Amino acid sequence: MTKFTDLPLHPKVLKAIEEAGYTEPTPIQADAIPPACEGKDVLGIAQTGTGKTASFTLPMITLLNRGRARARMPRSLVLAPTRELAAQVAENFDIYAKYTKLTKALLIGGVSFKDQDALIDRGVDVLIATPGRLLDHFERGKLILSDVKVMVVDEADRMLDMGFIPDIEEIFKKTPFTRQTLFFSATMAPEIERITNTFLSAPVKVEVARAATTSENIKQGVVMFKASRKDREGSEKRKLLRALIDGEVDECTNAIIFCNRKSDVDICAKSLKKYGYNAAPIHGDLDQSQRMKTLDGFRDGTIRFLVASDVAARGLDIPNVSHVFNFDVPSHAEDYVHRIGRTGRAGREGTALMICNPRDEKNFADVERLVKLEIPRVNNPIKAGPANDEKAPDEKSKRGRGRGRKKDDQAEAPVEAKVEAEPKAEKPKRERDGRGRGRKEHENKIVGLGDDVPGFIAMSFAERAGSDEPTKLETEEN
Ligand code: AMP
Repeated sequence: MTKFTDLPLHPKVLKAIEEAGYTEPTPIQADAIPPACEGKDVLGIAQTGTGKTASFTLPMITLLNRGRARARMPRSLVLAPTRELAAQVAENFDIYAKYTKLTKALLIGGVSFKDQDALIDRGVDVLIATPGRLLDHFERGKLILSDVKVMVVDEADRMLDMGFIPDIEEIFKKTPFTRQTLFFSATMAPEIERITNTFLSAPVKVEVARAATTSENIKQGVVMFKASRKDREGSEKRKLLRALIDGEVDECTNAIIFCNRKSDVDICAKSLKKYGYNAAPIHGDLDQSQRMKTLDGFRDGTIRFLVASDVAARGLDIPNVSHVFNFDVPSHAEDYVHRIGRTGRAGREGTALMICNPRDEKNFADVERLVKLEIPRVNNPIKAGPANDEKAPDEKSKRGRGRGRKKDDQAEAPVEAKVEAEPKAEKPKRERDGRGRGRKEHENKIVGLGDDVPGFIAMSFAERAGSDEPTKLETEEN
């Protein structure tokens, strides 16, 4: 078995690795580090969680240790598809380069150009950037790429999904063709293959796991779910999500909940919070400082449920995620692999549960085909018995606090009535967002009272349907 000391890494890097507590290289590190240290191009086919960040950061630090950075002329470039991923690479760099004098700058959107310019002006060894932001700096004449000796492209398949390939090509063209390229992608789509054929020179190909494989230490399950009525789908699905979380209460220390749409990320996070779950949303429309704050909170355990979009969560390294809940079946089957790969990292046990409604069945079939596995069907915990959403003791106490005892929170209340409780707790905007629905739909949501809906109740629903004011809703809820 390879040891880190067998690899041609600089002693200062080895010291930092030892301090990080790594005892032996992961397969991608064992295979990619030697050719990378020799100055060869590397094409790494690997997902996150395999240790791929260190497989390019460690050789980069070793190679750059000699020489000095010049003003505005970075000596190496790491391109990552999202701000979070770029920030994560920067954190890794700080850990592994702590005994060197190498400097870095992180160029990501949402951070002022002024501070970034000041760093670049001073000269940096490593520039870690998202493609758009890097080109912005270049076009403002603040950056010269002719001294780039090593260029890393991380998560190229995600770059493809996000439409960054033209930017990547442009950046490749602005760097010297003599540069060394370390290129990582979880899959080799034809477009990725074309890029690597064009810009890599006789790369050493290193492949550690097929993108379609899901870890054996992840327990998977799917609940086939059909809403009682179309206009109740959202609230019933969120109710089911809570029941699934509560059903896992003993094992679930924290979880990432994936939604396909950003609007659903917000709705879901808000809904969970209303029910006393410690949840926060993360997606591309939130500002950078908010995203960082949320991620830090999730990492340090102050946030337990991270509700996320694929783009925001892709590639994030958060060890110790016990559960992944797929609120929606992803529309690209490969995203399923990436999503559930957030749990069960580094050999730990993980659980991944998904909700599939009839509309998603085709996508679900694609997922099963891709992972070559029949994902076990899990009974719908709501149908199985009443009032499961009262299970989570730690959440329950929070839920009850300060609200009085709501009718829909009573354990003995019939399930169907409870399902309808949620619209009260959420702002009705979600139902109207972009779908042209609104008032009428909300008026329909009064159930459980037969035809004798008292006028004052009907009126309050109608009023709510017209309001986007959360404080008002909060007040009504309480
Ligand atoms: P990555 O695939 O780069 O996102 O890394 C996944 C996780 O593995 C990160 O938490 C790393 O800190 C960790 N890691 C990287 N290399 C090693 C190693 N050789 N031994 C143990 N953990 C590692």
